[in-house]
This record gives sequence, C-alpha cells and structure tokens, in this order.
Amino acid sequence: MPDLADDNPPAFDPDALYSSGRDWAPEYVHKCGVCNSTEDVLPVTEWSRGLCRKCLPKALEHRIFLDMRRREMLHVRDRVGICVSGGKDSAALLACLANLRRRRLFTAVAIYIDMGIPGYSAACRDAVTELCRRYAVRLVVEDAAAHDVAPQETGHWNVCAACGGIRRALFPRIARRENLDVIATGHTLEDMFQIMLKQILSGRTFAPKAVLPAGEYDPKKIKPLYFIPERLTAAYTQIEGLEFEPSKCPHFPPDTHRFKDVFAHLERLAPMSKIQFLTNLGHMMKSQPVAERPYECLDCGERAQKSLCPLCTMRRLQHGEDLPTDDPS
Ligand SMILES: [Zn+2]
Ligand SMILES: [Zn+2]
Repeated sequence: MPDLADDNPPAFDPDALYSSGRDWAPEYVHKCGVCNSTEDVLPVTEWSRGLCRKCLPKALEHRIFLDMRRREMLHVRDRVGICVSGGKDSAALLACLANLRRRRLFTAVAIYIDMGIPGYSAACRDAVTELCRRYAVRLVVEDAAAHDVAPQETGHWNVCAACGGIRRALFPRIARRENLDVIATGHTLEDMFQIMLKQILSGRTFAPKAVLPAGEYDPKKIKPLYFIPERLTAAYTQIEGLEFEPSKCPHFPPDTHRFKDVFAHLERLAPMSKIQFLTNLGHMMKSQPVAERPYECLDCGERAQKSLCPLCTMRRLQHGEDLPTDDPS
C-alpha cells in the first residue's frame, strides 16, 4: 500500500508490466505518442503508440472519456455507482471516473460488497475506503452477512459462482436504494476477451457488451474499461499510487486467467490484433437476451424467474431450509 505521506513518486516499471518481454514490439511504440519522449515509455501496441510516465494518466483518462462518449455510457446528471473490489482495475476505474467528473457533470458513488472472507475482505475494504476518501467519492458498503448469505459452496454454485451470484443480486438492489441510474464495473479488455473465448469454447454465442441498457428492474450497466488493456490500468495504478489490495482472493482458482497468455501471444504475433478481435467478435456475437421475471420472490419480494430469487434460494440452502416444492417454473 503506498504511503501517502511519502513525497517520492511511486515506482513505474514498464518492464515489469510487460511480462512477455517488449523487445518484439515495433520501434514506433518505444516513443511517447504525446510528447515524443523516449524515457520511461510503456509500449501500448494495442493503440499503436507508446506512453511515457508523465503522459499516461491523462491519455488513459481521455481515452476512457472518448469511449464513454462514443458509446453514450453516461449522460449529464446521471448518478453512477462504481463497483469497487479493492483490486487494481476497479481502483483505476474509480480514480479515472472521479477525475472525469470535471469534464462531464455526473455524480459518482462507490459500492463495495463485503463478502466477509477472512484475511482478505477487510484489507480490500480498507484500500477502498482510503481510495474513496482521497477522491472524495461517497462509499456505500454492503455486508453479504447482513443478507444471511456467504460465499461458500452451495447447491450448484461453487465458491466463486456464489460470490458472483451475491454481487449480481445485490448491485441492482443497492442501485434502487441509492437512486442510481448507472452501474459501472472495472472489466478490462482481457476480461472481455476471456469471457468471449469461454463462450465460444462452450458453444454459446453471447458476447458481453460495453453498455447494457436499463431493464424494467435493473439499472443501465456500463464497462468503461472494455477496450483498455490491463497493463494500462496497472501502469495508471502505479503512477498515481492508488490504494489497492495486491493479494488475490484465497478462493481464486489459480488457472482462472490461463487464457490471458493466449492474448499476450496473439498481440505479440500481430500487434493490435486483441482490439480487432474483440471488436469483430463483439459484432458477430449476440447480446444475452434479458430473462423474463414473472414472479415476486416469496421471501424478499424481488422480481424473479422462479418463486424464489437466486439470493433467497442460496440463503435457504445455506441455512438448511426447504425450497418451495411447487415451483411454478
Ligand atoms: Zn509523454
Ligand atoms: Zn428473494
């Protein structure tokens, strides 16, 4: 965690950020595309340019601003809930959006869901609290325990699926309670690529989209980092000295990100191919259709596909309670 009292600039190490080596990158990306400097330059083959330590933060914020404007992610006076996890990508998202409030009039609120994972969640919560204080963004913390659910193996959910299910269930409820128009998440280019590759490998044809319009019961969902390589969020986090929790969740399966090596190799063989692949796949694949929710959950009243919403199904299973036998679905 960076010490805010320390006046020394945080370390910026382009070599460490380029784990696959950067000798292969074309010559023109070793020079900053903004100021022409050759000092402390991070090659960004995805954008056919290099960015130096001094120019990178503003260039990244500007790119996110342009992406958000082109895709109409935010409108003036929107109230945006930024989902923060304590990790570097959502830290970069929060800092960029907080800085972009000067260029576009919107209100930002950070949302952290505390899963109560021993030795991990408290550290993430501390990092998020510090980050929000620094950027003057109000933080809403929701404890999973307050809903009587925990990230643990339950029915057909493994630990990570249970955690994801709890988040997906709570974000729209928090958005309604806090009167938010939009929910923003910190998924990056590599996350999107990985989701699409898994979809294709399992024979499905749905692609995650950068913008999901608001539904009858859900707020609009946006992914401002959809086209941003992770290396840039990592560099931004280093340069700005953002608070984040560097350790991984103890439940995180070690092979989850194995596909990311494929993308690094692809970029190496053909610079810019990651962005082209993502753009073209995004056009070829369909949006996931919105499932109808004709019922009101018996326990909480939330709109649901069955007589119980996923959150209440999980709660009942975790507490050894019966599920309705005459489910209408
Ligand atoms: Zn520069
Ligand atoms: Zn429910």
